[in-house]
Amino acid sequence: MAATWHESKVIRIEDETPTTKRFWLKTEGDETFDFKAGQFVTMDLPIGEKRNQRWRSYSIANAPDGSNVLEFCIVHLGGGLATDYLFDEVKIGSSIKFKGPDGNFVLPDPIENDLVFVCTGTGVAPFRSMIFDVFHQKKPHRGIHLIFGTRTADGILYQREFEELAQKMPGFRYSIALSREGNKQFHHGYVHGIYLKNYDEKRPDITFYLCGWTQMVDEAVANLIVKMGYDRTQVKYELYG
Ligand SMILES: Cc1cc2nc3c(=O)[nH]c(=O)nc-3n(C[C@H](O)[C@H](O)[C@H](O)COP(=O)(O)OP(=O)(O)OC[C@H]3O[C@@H](n4cnc5c(N)ncnc54)[C@H](O)[C@@H]3O)c2cc1C
Repeated sequence: MAATWHESKVIRIEDETPTTKRFWLKTEGDETFDFKAGQFVTMDLPIGEKRNQRWRSYSIANAPDGSNVLEFCIVHLGGGLATDYLFDEVKIGSSIKFKGPDGNFVLPDPIENDLVFVCTGTGVAPFRSMIFDVFHQKKPHRGIHLIFGTRTADGILYQREFEELAQKMPGFRYSIALSREGNKQFHHGYVHGIYLKNYDEKRPDITFYLCGWTQMVDEAVANLIVKMGYDRTQVKYELYG
């Protein structure tokens, strides 16, 4: 089936951390843009001649609400074609064309297992969408544990929101791992230390969702399946690259 392309305008941009920005895009036209929490879109950015040079995927970071406004949380490490463009050239009012939504990294329906979401950096985006979808739609669930990792405290994304949510959403738990900063409030080390400790007793009623760059995801898959003995069907992941 041919991909559906959508025109959108950037309506808001905010710094979230020193290297990460939140971008809000509103689709043009009257048609409702439907997506499932956890899905991504692929933007066609003016950064190359061939389409495989121009296309970059980004997870939708907000929950579906029928508003046609999509939020993205994007990290800029410097020297990347798309992120240089998004951070240096894109302004409020810029047009961005994208296709999608795509992807099967979505909530199970119904939610029967405990869900453990493991991510680093902007890998939190699909989980933010899923968690707020559960919250806003009052979806029945058992327990959701978000394990977020980054290097230092100034890289924590959406901290206040998730802390507030943990106070008001029964069954939602939030853990932060800082790999390069000792801080009494948080786990000192990688995300792996948190699930290895909390879920060391293998249970058939947990599903792990992993999202981020290859190194973290590969290590988590190896830990969960090889070391801890979880079944392959209990581990789902979305790779950013
Ligand atoms: C399904 C999907 C969803 C995605 N969602 C997001 C998202 O929500 N937010 C987001 O920031 N990115 C997301 N990405 C990554 C995004 O598509 C780009 O790969 C990223 O923005 C770098 O693009 P670039 O053109 O700037 O770098 P490029 O010019 O393509 O390459 C730079 C190099 O650096 C690597 N790289 C870039 N950033 C990182 C990083 N943070 N850690 C490790 N290696 C890195 C790339 O893999 C590549 O080797 C997603 C990718 C996929 C496949």
